[in-house]
Amino acid sequence: MKKLLISFALLNLLAYAASAGETSSSGNISFDQLLSHITSAPAETAPMPEPAAEKAAFAAATEGRYWITVKAADSHARTRLLEAGFDIVEINKDSVSGIAGPELLAALSSKSFMVLSRVPLAVRAKDFPAADAAYHNFKETVDLLKQMAAANPDIASLFSIGKTTEGRDIWCLRINSSAKGEAASAKPGALYIGNHHAREHLSNEVPLLFAAWLFDHKNDADIKKYINTLDIYIIPMLNADGAEYDIKTGSYQYYRKNMSLNADKSRGVDLNRNYDSWFCEAGASTYPGADTYCGPKAFSEPESQAVKKFIEARKNLKTHISYHSYASEILYPWGGSDADVPNEKDKQVFIKVGDEMGKLTGYLSHKSSEMYVATGDSCDWAYASGGIFAFTFELEGRSFYPGAAILSSAVAKNIKAAVYLLSVTDNPYKVLP
Ligand SMILES: [Zn+2]
Repeated sequence: MKKLLISFALLNLLAYAASAGETSSSGNISFDQLLSHITSAPAETAPMPEPAAEKAAFAAATEGRYWITVKAADSHARTRLLEAGFDIVEINKDSVSGIAGPELLAALSSKSFMVLSRVPLAVRAKDFPAADAAYHNFKETVDLLKQMAAANPDIASLFSIGKTTEGRDIWCLRINSSAKGEAASAKPGALYIGNHHAREHLSNEVPLLFAAWLFDHKNDADIKKYINTLDIYIIPMLNADGAEYDIKTGSYQYYRKNMSLNADKSRGVDLNRNYDSWFCEAGASTYPGADTYCGPKAFSEPESQAVKKFIEARKNLKTHISYHSYASEILYPWGGSDADVPNEKDKQVFIKVGDEMGKLTGYLSHKSSEMYVATGDSCDWAYASGGIFAFTFELEGRSFYPGAAILSSAVAKNIKAAVYLLSVTDNPYKVLP
């Protein structure tokens, strides 16, 4: 399969367009042009050898950490593992896999969990810094957002919804034919957020490139209708601090949380355990060093706080996707309880809309807690507090670092699902018979 270097291709395209004056008539970045440029990029770039310094940095980051497989026969066992601080990355029939350091291994052993296998993390690493080039880091993401907003002033605006722990802006691209910036709109709203979790870089690419695609197709009849009648928000990189930390040495750090400094000097809160929905009751850890640490209290973190304020200020929001990776699944509430949502009509909307998006992506749609119960989840909170039909997408791949080759197909199928969500945002209940 070809390696598709999207960010390189885009930068090249922008440079080329600037020098040749060859932007499309609106000055817009052309997604089709971008894709054709990408697919004509040189096939199969050989992985670059890692410089010794990078190897050393990676060894330091991964020293004493393992890819482990633990026996867990059902969702209740999986929930208990989350509470022990283990972030479940892969679910198998009778076991789960993920990353563990010495403290977690000791904790699992003391709680009588059976560790079936463990492989030093460095051995499992299967990607190279050269693969980063296809993905957008924080600066590249912001540059692209600014470029898109500047090229489409009639329908787009860009603003910050708040600052991260380390002071980076959390940028939101808005697509609305009448209201700009933070001005209120009565039009039904759709919200797309990526990158709650640092190492899930694909979850930034999907909403970011969805935006590029929307601008490129803004004159298609259906897209034009959505832009004219809806209020569309795209926040591709919520956890910019964590995403930057994960790549800053040129080798991946397998980092999940934000960059808060905890009371015990450990680093990070799991942002998707920090929302006020059964906060820290099940499937979350109170141990600050754990990957599933819920934080000292609900909404303790600037990133989740920014989302809270954003959603609470916009009562017009009807639909939402929060992108994560990886499982090829679409999840709907509840995640924090085994129960179904109590409103039968809403439940049927979740099932129907989830199934439709499942057909478009090939992902399996189901109630989130069927996988395991995890409280403090953003989509549970968005539905409970705002009545928003909120879906978690666990994007595809067989690793947090699936390489550049996956981008074009993953983005293409997820654009279809994201557009479908727009098509029901005016009234999600219309999907019911
Ligand atoms: Zn995630």
